[in-house]
Amino acid sequence: MTIAAFRADLGDIPVEDHPRIVQQRSRDHYWYSPVLKAKLDHVTAEVVVSPRTQEEVKTVLAAAYRHKVAVTPRGAGTGNYGQALPLAGGAMLNLMNLDRVIDIKPDRVRAEAGIVLEKLDQQTRPAVGGELRFHPSTYRMASLGGFIAGGSGGVGSIRWGGLRNLGSILSVKIITCEESPREMELTGEDVLKVAHAYGTNGVIVEAEMPLAPACDWVDIMVGFDDFLAACRFSEAITAQDSLLLKEVAPCAAPIGQDYFNRHKPYIRDGQSVVLIMAAPVAVEPVLIHLAYHGGEVLYRSDKASEEELRRLPPIYELAWNHTTLRALKVDPSITYLQTRYPTLKHVEKIVSILGDELPMHIEMTRQDGAVTFAGLPLVRYTSEARLEEIIAIHEDNGCAVFNPHRYTLEEGGMKRTDAAQLAFKRQADPAGMLNPGKMIAWDDPGFDLNSGRAWLFQGLAATA
Ligand code: FAD
Repeated sequence: MTIAAFRADLGDIPVEDHPRIVQQRSRDHYWYSPVLKAKLDHVTAEVVVSPRTQEEVKTVLAAAYRHKVAVTPRGAGTGNYGQALPLAGGAMLNLMNLDRVIDIKPDRVRAEAGIVLEKLDQQTRPAVGGELRFHPSTYRMASLGGFIAGGSGGVGSIRWGGLRNLGSILSVKIITCEESPREMELTGEDVLKVAHAYGTNGVIVEAEMPLAPACDWVDIMVGFDDFLAACRFSEAITAQDSLLLKEVAPCAAPIGQDYFNRHKPYIRDGQSVVLIMAAPVAVEPVLIHLAYHGGEVLYRSDKASEEELRRLPPIYELAWNHTTLRALKVDPSITYLQTRYPTLKHVEKIVSILGDELPMHIEMTRQDGAVTFAGLPLVRYTSEARLEEIIAIHEDNGCAVFNPHRYTLEEGGMKRTDAAQLAFKRQADPAGMLNPGKMIAWDDPGFDLNSGRAWLFQGLAATA
Protein backbone atom coordinates (compact mmCIF):
# COMPACT_ATOMS: atom_id res chain seq x y z
CA MET A 1 0.00 0.00 0.00
CA THR A 2 1.67 3.20 -1.17
CA ILE A 3 -0.03 5.51 1.33
CA ALA A 4 0.59 3.11 4.21
CA ALA A 5 4.30 2.91 3.33
CA PHE A 6 4.42 6.71 2.97
CA ARG A 7 2.83 7.17 6.38
CA ALA A 8 5.20 4.70 7.96
CA ASP A 9 8.10 6.96 6.97
CA LEU A 10 6.62 10.09 8.60
CA GLY A 11 7.47 9.32 12.25
CA ASP A 12 5.37 11.46 14.59
CA ILE A 13 4.44 14.13 12.02
CA PRO A 14 0.67 14.69 12.46
CA VAL A 15 -1.45 12.89 9.85
CA GLU A 16 -5.24 13.16 9.48
CA ASP A 17 -7.11 10.42 7.67
CA HIS A 18 -10.76 10.86 8.66
CA PRO A 19 -12.42 10.91 5.22
CA ARG A 20 -14.77 13.83 5.98
CA ILE A 21 -12.03 16.02 7.42
CA VAL A 22 -9.63 15.07 4.63
CA GLN A 23 -12.22 15.97 2.00
CA GLN A 24 -12.91 19.29 3.71
CA ARG A 25 -9.19 20.09 3.75
CA SER A 26 -8.87 18.97 0.12
CA ARG A 27 -10.99 21.91 -1.05
CA ASP A 28 -10.44 25.52 -1.84
CA HIS A 29 -12.93 28.06 -3.23
CA TYR A 30 -13.16 26.31 -6.65
CA TRP A 31 -16.95 26.30 -6.21
CA TYR A 32 -17.06 29.99 -7.27
CA SER A 33 -17.01 28.47 -10.74
CA PRO A 34 -19.95 26.28 -11.78
CA VAL A 35 -17.65 24.80 -14.41
CA LEU A 36 -14.98 23.76 -11.89
CA LYS A 37 -17.62 22.68 -9.39
CA ALA A 38 -19.02 20.17 -11.86
CA LYS A 39 -15.56 18.84 -12.68
CA LEU A 40 -13.89 18.78 -9.26
CA ASP A 41 -16.55 18.12 -6.63
CA HIS A 42 -15.46 14.51 -6.13
CA VAL A 43 -11.76 15.29 -5.68
CA THR A 44 -10.18 14.35 -2.35
CA ALA A 45 -6.79 13.44 -0.94
CA GLU A 46 -6.25 10.31 1.14
CA VAL A 47 -4.48 12.01 4.06
CA VAL A 48 -3.57 15.48 5.32
CA VAL A 49 -0.03 15.81 6.65
CA SER A 50 0.80 18.78 8.92
CA PRO A 51 4.54 19.23 9.43
CA ARG A 52 5.60 21.59 12.21
CA THR A 53 9.09 22.42 11.01
CA GLN A 54 11.00 22.77 7.75
CA GLU A 55 12.90 19.55 8.58
CA GLU A 56 9.55 17.76 8.79
CA VAL A 57 8.60 19.17 5.36
CA LYS A 58 11.77 17.52 4.03
CA THR A 59 10.81 14.21 5.66
CA VAL A 60 7.35 14.36 4.01
CA LEU A 61 8.76 15.19 0.58
CA ALA A 62 11.42 12.46 0.78
CA ALA A 63 8.70 9.92 1.69
CA ALA A 64 6.47 11.18 -1.15
CA TYR A 65 9.31 10.81 -3.63
CA ARG A 66 10.24 7.34 -2.35
CA HIS A 67 6.69 5.97 -2.44
CA LYS A 68 5.45 7.99 -5.42
CA VAL A 69 2.66 9.70 -3.49
CA ALA A 70 1.28 12.92 -4.95
CA VAL A 71 1.63 15.93 -2.62
CA THR A 72 -0.45 19.09 -2.89
CA PRO A 73 0.76 22.03 -0.78
CA ARG A 74 -1.96 23.96 1.02
CA GLY A 75 -2.15 27.21 2.95
CA ALA A 76 -5.58 28.43 4.01
CA GLY A 77 -7.32 26.96 0.93
CA THR A 78 -8.82 30.26 -0.23
CA GLY A 79 -7.66 29.96 -3.87
CA ASN A 80 -10.43 30.22 -6.45
CA TYR A 81 -9.34 28.01 -9.32
CA GLY A 82 -9.03 24.62 -7.65
CA GLN A 83 -5.27 25.28 -7.42
CA ALA A 84 -5.12 23.47 -4.08
CA LEU A 85 -7.32 20.52 -5.07
CA PRO A 86 -5.39 17.21 -5.06
CA LEU A 87 -6.38 16.03 -8.54
CA ALA A 88 -4.36 12.82 -8.22
CA GLY A 89 -5.35 12.12 -4.60
CA GLY A 90 -2.37 11.35 -2.33
CA ALA A 91 -1.45 13.75 0.46
CA MET A 92 -2.42 17.34 1.24
CA LEU A 93 0.56 19.14 2.75
CA ASN A 94 -0.83 21.58 5.30
CA LEU A 95 1.76 24.33 5.78
CA MET A 96 -0.12 26.52 8.26
CA ASN A 97 2.01 25.33 11.22
CA LEU A 98 5.08 26.97 9.70
CA ASP A 99 4.20 30.43 10.90
CA ARG A 100 7.28 32.00 12.45
CA VAL A 101 8.36 35.55 11.68
CA ILE A 102 12.10 35.28 11.16
CA ASP A 103 13.38 38.82 10.69
CA ILE A 104 11.86 42.29 10.51
CA LYS A 105 13.77 45.23 9.02
CA PRO A 106 12.44 48.74 8.35
CA ASP A 107 11.88 47.94 4.68
CA ARG A 108 11.29 44.17 4.63
CA VAL A 109 10.11 41.11 6.54
CA ARG A 110 11.11 37.47 6.33
CA ALA A 111 8.68 34.84 7.58
CA GLU A 112 7.68 31.23 7.19
CA ALA A 113 5.13 30.37 4.54
CA GLY A 114 2.20 29.44 6.77
CA ILE A 115 1.84 32.79 8.50
CA VAL A 116 -1.52 34.51 7.92
CA LEU A 117 -0.95 37.83 6.14
CA GLU A 118 -2.79 39.93 8.74
CA LYS A 119 -0.68 38.35 11.49
CA LEU A 120 2.45 39.36 9.62
CA ASP A 121 1.38 43.02 9.59
CA GLN A 122 0.46 42.76 13.26
CA GLN A 123 4.14 42.13 13.95
CA THR A 124 5.74 44.53 11.46
CA ARG A 125 3.53 47.53 12.31
CA PRO A 126 4.66 47.90 15.95
CA ALA A 127 8.21 46.75 15.17
CA VAL A 128 9.11 49.11 12.31
CA GLY A 129 5.94 50.98 11.30
CA GLY A 130 5.70 48.93 8.11
CA GLU A 131 3.00 46.80 6.45
CA LEU A 132 2.77 44.55 3.39
CA ARG A 133 2.54 46.65 0.24
CA PHE A 134 -0.52 44.76 -0.94
CA HIS A 135 -2.56 41.77 0.09
CA PRO A 136 -5.51 39.75 -1.17
CA SER A 137 -8.90 40.64 0.28
CA THR A 138 -8.57 37.32 2.16
CA TYR A 139 -5.96 39.12 4.32
CA ARG A 140 -7.45 37.74 7.53
CA MET A 141 -7.21 34.10 6.37
CA ALA A 142 -4.68 33.60 3.57
CA SER A 143 -1.09 32.45 4.12
CA LEU A 144 2.06 34.09 2.80
CA GLY A 145 3.07 30.95 0.86
CA GLY A 146 -0.42 30.52 -0.60
CA PHE A 147 -0.49 34.14 -1.72
CA ILE A 148 2.88 33.81 -3.48
CA ALA A 149 2.05 30.42 -5.06
CA GLY A 150 -1.60 31.04 -5.88
CA GLY A 151 -2.41 34.76 -5.81
CA SER A 152 -1.65 37.72 -8.00
CA GLY A 153 -2.30 41.05 -6.28
CA GLY A 154 -5.01 42.85 -4.41
CA VAL A 155 -5.55 45.65 -1.94
CA GLY A 156 -2.59 47.98 -2.54
CA SER A 157 -2.04 46.95 -6.19
CA ILE A 158 -3.35 50.40 -7.06
CA ARG A 159 0.02 51.71 -5.90
CA TRP A 160 2.37 48.73 -6.02
CA GLY A 161 1.33 46.55 -8.99
CA GLY A 162 1.22 42.77 -8.56
CA LEU A 163 3.26 39.82 -7.35
CA ARG A 164 4.78 39.25 -10.79
CA ASN A 165 6.45 42.68 -10.81
CA LEU A 166 10.13 42.41 -9.90
CA GLY A 167 10.64 43.72 -6.38
CA SER A 168 7.26 42.54 -5.07
CA ILE A 169 8.81 39.34 -3.65
CA LEU A 170 12.41 39.72 -2.48
CA SER A 171 13.28 36.07 -1.94
CA VAL A 172 11.72 32.68 -1.52
CA LYS A 173 13.11 29.55 0.13
CA ILE A 174 11.76 26.31 -1.26
CA ILE A 175 12.23 22.61 -0.56
CA THR A 176 12.47 20.25 -3.51
CA CYS A 177 10.75 16.86 -3.87
CA GLU A 178 13.61 14.43 -4.45
CA GLU A 179 15.28 11.44 -2.84
CA SER A 180 17.11 13.90 -0.56
CA PRO A 181 15.04 17.11 -0.64
CA ARG A 182 17.18 20.24 -0.96
CA GLU A 183 16.65 23.78 0.27
CA MET A 184 16.95 26.42 -2.45
CA GLU A 185 16.93 30.19 -1.98
CA LEU A 186 15.58 32.08 -5.01
CA THR A 187 16.18 35.80 -5.37
CA GLY A 188 15.82 38.46 -8.08
CA GLU A 189 14.16 37.24 -11.26
CA ASP A 190 14.38 33.63 -10.04
CA VAL A 191 11.47 34.16 -7.62
CA LEU A 192 9.20 34.17 -10.70
CA LYS A 193 9.95 30.48 -11.18
CA VAL A 194 7.72 29.66 -8.21
CA ALA A 195 5.47 32.74 -7.97
CA HIS A 196 1.96 31.78 -9.10
CA ALA A 197 3.15 28.24 -9.96
CA TYR A 198 0.54 26.62 -7.67
CA GLY A 199 3.25 24.78 -5.73
CA THR A 200 3.96 22.55 -8.73
CA ASN A 201 7.71 23.07 -8.59
CA GLY A 202 8.76 23.38 -4.96
CA VAL A 203 7.27 23.84 -1.52
CA ILE A 204 7.73 27.39 -0.29
CA VAL A 205 8.82 27.41 3.34
CA GLU A 206 9.99 31.01 3.76
CA ALA A 207 9.72 34.30 1.91
CA GLU A 208 11.02 37.84 2.24
CA MET A 209 8.62 40.64 1.31
CA PRO A 210 9.12 44.40 1.00
CA LEU A 211 7.22 46.69 3.35
CA ALA A 212 5.50 50.03 2.80
CA PRO A 213 5.00 52.63 5.56
CA ALA A 214 1.99 51.52 7.62
CA CYS A 215 -1.04 53.77 7.52
CA ASP A 216 -4.39 54.08 9.36
CA TRP A 217 -6.41 53.71 6.18
CA VAL A 218 -9.81 55.40 6.00
CA ASP A 219 -12.60 53.34 4.41
CA ILE A 220 -14.86 55.40 2.16
CA MET A 221 -17.87 54.37 0.09
CA VAL A 222 -19.15 56.88 -2.46
CA GLY A 223 -22.16 56.72 -4.76
CA PHE A 224 -22.94 57.76 -8.34
CA ASP A 225 -26.15 57.62 -10.36
CA ASP A 226 -24.12 56.66 -13.42
CA PHE A 227 -21.55 53.82 -13.43
CA LEU A 228 -19.34 55.43 -16.06
CA ALA A 229 -19.14 58.59 -13.96
CA ALA A 230 -18.02 56.36 -11.07
CA CYS A 231 -15.31 54.93 -13.36
CA ARG A 232 -14.17 58.38 -14.54
CA PHE A 233 -13.84 59.49 -10.91
CA SER A 234 -11.96 56.27 -10.05
CA GLU A 235 -9.56 56.75 -12.95
CA ALA A 236 -8.98 60.39 -12.01
CA ILE A 237 -8.09 59.77 -8.37
CA THR A 238 -5.98 56.71 -9.20
CA ALA A 239 -3.93 58.78 -11.64
CA GLN A 240 -3.17 61.48 -9.04
CA ASP A 241 0.38 60.92 -7.81
CA SER A 242 -0.32 63.17 -4.82
CA LEU A 243 -2.99 60.87 -3.37
CA LEU A 244 -1.98 57.94 -1.17
CA LEU A 245 -4.64 55.31 -1.87
CA LYS A 246 -4.76 51.60 -1.16
CA GLU A 247 -7.99 50.62 -2.87
CA VAL A 248 -10.37 52.03 -5.49
CA ALA A 249 -13.08 49.74 -6.88
CA PRO A 250 -16.10 50.90 -8.85
CA CYS A 251 -19.04 48.46 -8.66
CA ALA A 252 -22.04 48.97 -10.93
CA ALA A 253 -25.60 49.03 -9.64
CA PRO A 254 -27.21 46.84 -8.39
CA ILE A 255 -24.12 45.18 -6.81
CA GLY A 256 -24.06 47.43 -3.72
CA GLN A 257 -27.80 47.40 -3.14
CA ASP A 258 -28.30 43.69 -3.77
CA TYR A 259 -25.17 42.11 -2.34
CA PHE A 260 -23.43 44.36 0.24
CA ASN A 261 -25.88 43.31 2.96
CA ARG A 262 -24.51 45.36 5.82
CA HIS A 263 -23.76 48.46 3.74
CA LYS A 264 -27.09 48.31 1.90
CA PRO A 265 -28.81 50.94 4.10
CA TYR A 266 -26.25 53.52 2.96
CA ILE A 267 -26.92 52.97 -0.77
CA ARG A 268 -29.84 54.38 -2.76
CA ASP A 269 -31.63 52.25 -5.38
CA GLY A 270 -29.83 52.37 -8.70
CA GLN A 271 -26.62 53.79 -7.24
CA SER A 272 -23.24 52.51 -8.39
CA VAL A 273 -20.61 52.65 -5.66
CA VAL A 274 -16.86 53.13 -5.43
CA LEU A 275 -14.98 51.40 -2.58
CA ILE A 276 -11.98 53.44 -1.45
CA MET A 277 -9.19 53.12 1.10
CA ALA A 278 -7.38 56.43 1.49
CA ALA A 279 -4.64 57.69 3.77
CA PRO A 280 -6.03 60.26 6.22
CA VAL A 281 -4.17 63.06 4.36
CA ALA A 282 -5.76 61.98 1.08
CA VAL A 283 -9.39 62.05 2.24
CA GLU A 284 -10.06 65.74 1.70
CA PRO A 285 -8.60 65.90 -1.84
CA VAL A 286 -10.49 62.71 -2.76
CA LEU A 287 -13.71 64.41 -1.68
CA ILE A 288 -12.89 67.45 -3.82
CA HIS A 289 -12.52 65.14 -6.84
CA LEU A 290 -15.76 63.47 -5.82
CA ALA A 291 -17.70 66.74 -5.84
CA TYR A 292 -16.20 67.61 -9.22
CA HIS A 293 -17.42 64.29 -10.67
CA GLY A 294 -20.90 64.56 -9.18
CA GLY A 295 -20.69 61.75 -6.61
CA GLU A 296 -21.77 61.68 -2.97
CA VAL A 297 -20.25 60.24 0.20
CA LEU A 298 -22.25 57.29 1.52
CA TYR A 299 -19.99 56.12 4.32
CA ARG A 300 -16.59 56.97 5.79
CA SER A 301 -14.96 55.13 8.64
CA ASP A 302 -13.32 58.22 10.13
CA LYS A 303 -16.81 59.64 10.80
CA ALA A 304 -18.44 56.34 11.78
CA SER A 305 -19.84 55.53 15.22
CA GLU A 306 -18.31 52.83 17.44
CA GLU A 307 -21.34 50.68 16.64
CA GLU A 308 -20.84 51.05 12.87
CA LEU A 309 -17.16 50.22 13.15
CA ARG A 310 -18.04 47.05 15.07
CA ARG A 311 -20.85 46.01 12.72
CA LEU A 312 -19.43 46.73 9.28
CA PRO A 313 -16.71 44.65 7.62
CA PRO A 314 -13.62 46.51 6.42
CA ILE A 315 -14.21 47.94 2.95
CA TYR A 316 -11.59 45.62 1.40
CA GLU A 317 -13.88 42.72 2.35
CA LEU A 318 -16.36 44.07 -0.20
CA ALA A 319 -13.67 44.29 -2.88
CA TRP A 320 -11.64 41.92 -5.07
CA ASN A 321 -13.15 38.43 -4.91
CA HIS A 322 -15.14 39.36 -1.81
CA THR A 323 -17.51 41.17 -4.19
CA THR A 324 -18.16 37.81 -5.87
CA LEU A 325 -18.45 36.02 -2.52
CA ARG A 326 -21.07 38.50 -1.30
CA ALA A 327 -23.05 38.12 -4.53
CA LEU A 328 -22.83 34.31 -4.34
CA LYS A 329 -24.19 34.34 -0.79
CA VAL A 330 -27.34 36.10 -2.03
CA ASP A 331 -27.63 34.48 -5.46
CA PRO A 332 -25.82 31.12 -5.83
CA SER A 333 -26.24 31.21 -9.60
CA ILE A 334 -23.73 34.05 -9.93
CA THR A 335 -20.17 33.55 -11.05
CA TYR A 336 -17.43 35.87 -12.32
CA LEU A 337 -14.63 36.58 -14.76
CA GLN A 338 -11.16 38.08 -14.50
CA THR A 339 -10.55 40.59 -17.26
CA ARG A 340 -8.40 43.53 -18.21
CA TYR A 341 -9.91 46.59 -19.89
CA PRO A 342 -7.16 48.65 -21.55
CA THR A 343 -9.18 51.89 -21.30
CA LEU A 344 -12.45 53.24 -20.00
CA LYS A 345 -13.78 53.05 -23.57
CA HIS A 346 -13.37 49.25 -23.39
CA VAL A 347 -15.31 49.14 -20.11
CA GLU A 348 -18.03 51.24 -21.70
CA LYS A 349 -18.22 48.96 -24.75
CA ILE A 350 -18.53 45.75 -22.72
CA VAL A 351 -21.13 47.31 -20.40
CA SER A 352 -23.14 48.43 -23.42
CA ILE A 353 -23.07 44.92 -24.96
CA LEU A 354 -23.67 42.80 -21.87
CA GLY A 355 -25.60 45.13 -19.56
CA ASP A 356 -27.00 43.50 -16.42
CA GLU A 357 -25.96 40.01 -17.52
CA LEU A 358 -22.48 41.15 -16.39
CA PRO A 359 -22.81 43.46 -13.34
CA MET A 360 -19.50 45.28 -13.67
CA HIS A 361 -16.88 45.32 -10.92
CA ILE A 362 -13.54 46.98 -11.60
CA GLU A 363 -10.38 47.07 -9.50
CA MET A 364 -8.17 50.05 -10.29
CA THR A 365 -4.54 48.92 -10.41
CA ARG A 366 -1.19 50.19 -11.61
CA GLN A 367 0.68 48.12 -14.18
CA ASP A 368 4.08 49.31 -15.38
CA GLY A 369 3.23 52.80 -14.18
CA ALA A 370 -0.09 53.04 -16.00
CA VAL A 371 -3.56 53.10 -14.47
CA THR A 372 -5.43 49.95 -15.52
CA PHE A 373 -8.97 48.69 -15.18
CA ALA A 374 -8.66 45.15 -13.82
CA GLY A 375 -12.11 43.61 -14.11
CA LEU A 376 -13.76 41.11 -11.80
CA PRO A 377 -17.23 41.41 -13.30
CA LEU A 378 -20.02 39.25 -11.93
CA VAL A 379 -21.72 36.98 -14.43
CA ARG A 380 -25.37 35.95 -14.26
CA TYR A 381 -24.55 32.40 -15.24
CA THR A 382 -26.85 30.47 -17.53
CA SER A 383 -24.62 27.89 -19.23
CA GLU A 384 -20.99 27.07 -19.93
CA ALA A 385 -21.61 27.80 -23.61
CA ARG A 386 -22.87 31.32 -22.81
CA LEU A 387 -19.90 31.87 -20.49
CA GLU A 388 -17.60 31.02 -23.39
CA GLU A 389 -19.52 33.51 -25.57
CA ILE A 390 -19.06 36.23 -22.95
CA ILE A 391 -15.32 35.47 -22.89
CA ALA A 392 -15.24 35.64 -26.70
CA ILE A 393 -17.07 38.99 -26.66
CA HIS A 394 -14.35 40.35 -24.38
CA GLU A 395 -11.52 39.02 -26.54
CA ASP A 396 -13.15 40.24 -29.76
CA ASN A 397 -13.27 43.71 -28.22
CA GLY A 398 -9.60 43.77 -27.23
CA CYS A 399 -10.09 42.88 -23.53
CA ALA A 400 -7.93 40.09 -22.06
CA VAL A 401 -9.59 37.35 -20.00
CA PHE A 402 -7.72 35.31 -17.35
CA ASN A 403 -10.13 32.42 -17.18
CA PRO A 404 -11.01 31.55 -13.56
CA HIS A 405 -12.97 28.51 -14.74
CA ARG A 406 -9.84 26.46 -15.47
CA TYR A 407 -7.63 24.61 -12.97
CA THR A 408 -4.41 24.66 -15.00
CA LEU A 409 -1.74 27.36 -14.93
CA GLU A 410 -1.74 27.77 -18.69
CA GLU A 411 -5.49 27.94 -19.36
CA GLY A 412 -6.10 30.29 -16.42
CA GLY A 413 -3.26 32.56 -17.51
CA MET A 414 -1.93 33.80 -20.81
CA LYS A 415 -2.58 30.52 -22.67
CA ARG A 416 1.11 29.77 -22.96
CA THR A 417 3.65 27.72 -21.06
CA ASP A 418 5.89 29.53 -18.59
CA ALA A 419 9.17 27.97 -19.76
CA ALA A 420 11.08 29.03 -16.62
CA GLN A 421 8.51 27.38 -14.34
CA LEU A 422 8.56 24.19 -16.43
CA ALA A 423 12.39 24.04 -16.47
CA PHE A 424 12.47 24.60 -12.72
CA LYS A 425 10.01 21.76 -12.16
CA ARG A 426 12.47 19.39 -13.86
CA GLN A 427 15.03 20.33 -11.17
CA ALA A 428 12.83 20.66 -8.11
CA ASP A 429 10.25 17.93 -8.74
CA PRO A 430 11.81 15.45 -11.19
CA ALA A 431 9.20 12.73 -10.51
CA GLY A 432 6.24 15.13 -10.90
CA MET A 433 4.85 14.51 -7.41
CA LEU A 434 3.94 18.12 -6.58
CA ASN A 435 0.34 19.16 -7.27
CA PRO A 436 -0.10 16.96 -10.37
CA GLY A 437 -2.44 18.06 -13.14
CA LYS A 438 -1.97 21.81 -12.84
CA MET A 439 0.83 22.34 -15.39
CA ILE A 440 -0.23 21.12 -18.84
CA ALA A 441 3.27 21.48 -20.28
CA TRP A 442 4.51 18.84 -17.80
CA ASP A 443 1.76 16.30 -18.43
CA ASP A 444 0.94 16.89 -22.08
CA PRO A 445 3.59 19.02 -23.86
CA GLY A 446 1.85 18.56 -27.23
CA PHE A 447 -1.51 20.03 -26.12
CA ASP A 448 -2.62 22.93 -28.30
CA LEU A 449 -3.59 25.73 -25.91
CA ASN A 450 -5.39 27.56 -28.69
CA SER A 451 -7.51 24.59 -29.77
CA GLY A 452 -10.56 25.92 -27.96
CA ARG A 453 -10.80 22.64 -26.00
CA ALA A 454 -10.43 22.53 -22.22
CA TRP A 455 -7.60 20.22 -21.12
CA LEU A 456 -8.51 17.21 -18.95
CA PHE A 457 -5.96 15.79 -16.53
CA GLN A 458 -5.93 12.02 -17.07
CA GLY A 459 -5.37 11.40 -13.34
CA LEU A 460 -8.61 13.29 -12.68
CA ALA A 461 -10.53 11.05 -15.06
CA ALA A 462 -9.08 8.09 -13.16
CA THR A 463 -10.38 9.34 -9.78
CA ALA A 464 -13.86 10.31 -11.06
P1 FAD B 1 -4.18 28.17 -0.91
O1 FAD B 1 -5.53 28.38 -1.51
O2 FAD B 1 -4.06 27.19 0.19
O3 FAD B 1 -3.16 27.78 -2.05
C1 FAD B 1 -3.05 28.51 -3.23
C2 FAD B 1 -2.08 27.78 -4.18
O4 FAD B 1 -0.78 27.84 -3.64
C3 FAD B 1 -2.39 26.30 -4.35
O5 FAD B 1 -2.01 25.91 -5.64
C4 FAD B 1 -1.48 25.61 -3.34
O6 FAD B 1 -1.17 24.30 -3.77
C5 FAD B 1 -0.27 26.53 -3.37
N1 FAD B 1 0.44 26.65 -2.08
C6 FAD B 1 -0.09 27.03 -0.88
N2 FAD B 1 0.90 27.13 0.02
C7 FAD B 1 2.06 26.82 -0.62
C8 FAD B 1 3.43 26.75 -0.22
N3 FAD B 1 3.82 27.03 1.02
N4 FAD B 1 4.34 26.37 -1.14
C9 FAD B 1 3.98 26.09 -2.42
N5 FAD B 1 2.71 26.14 -2.84
C10 FAD B 1 1.77 26.52 -1.96
N6 FAD B 1 -6.29 36.45 -4.63
C11 FAD B 1 -5.60 37.54 -4.95
O7 FAD B 1 -4.50 37.43 -5.50
N7 FAD B 1 -6.08 38.79 -4.66
C12 FAD B 1 -7.26 38.97 -4.03
O8 FAD B 1 -7.62 40.10 -3.72
C13 FAD B 1 -8.04 37.83 -3.72
N8 FAD B 1 -9.25 37.96 -3.12
C14 FAD B 1 -9.96 36.84 -2.78
C15 FAD B 1 -11.18 36.95 -2.12
C16 FAD B 1 -11.93 35.82 -1.78
C17 FAD B 1 -13.23 35.97 -1.05
C18 FAD B 1 -11.42 34.53 -2.08
C19 FAD B 1 -12.17 33.29 -1.70
C20 FAD B 1 -10.20 34.41 -2.73
C21 FAD B 1 -9.45 35.54 -3.07
N9 FAD B 1 -8.19 35.44 -3.68
C22 FAD B 1 -7.49 36.56 -4.02
C23 FAD B 1 -7.58 34.13 -3.86
C24 FAD B 1 -6.79 33.67 -2.59
O9 FAD B 1 -7.49 34.04 -1.42
C25 FAD B 1 -5.42 34.28 -2.47
O10 FAD B 1 -4.67 34.08 -3.63
C26 FAD B 1 -4.67 33.76 -1.24
O11 FAD B 1 -3.49 34.48 -1.12
C27 FAD B 1 -4.34 32.29 -1.27
O12 FAD B 1 -3.72 31.97 -0.05
P2 FAD B 1 -4.03 30.59 0.68
O13 FAD B 1 -3.15 30.48 1.87
O14 FAD B 1 -5.48 30.43 0.92
O15 FAD B 1 -3.55 29.58 -0.45
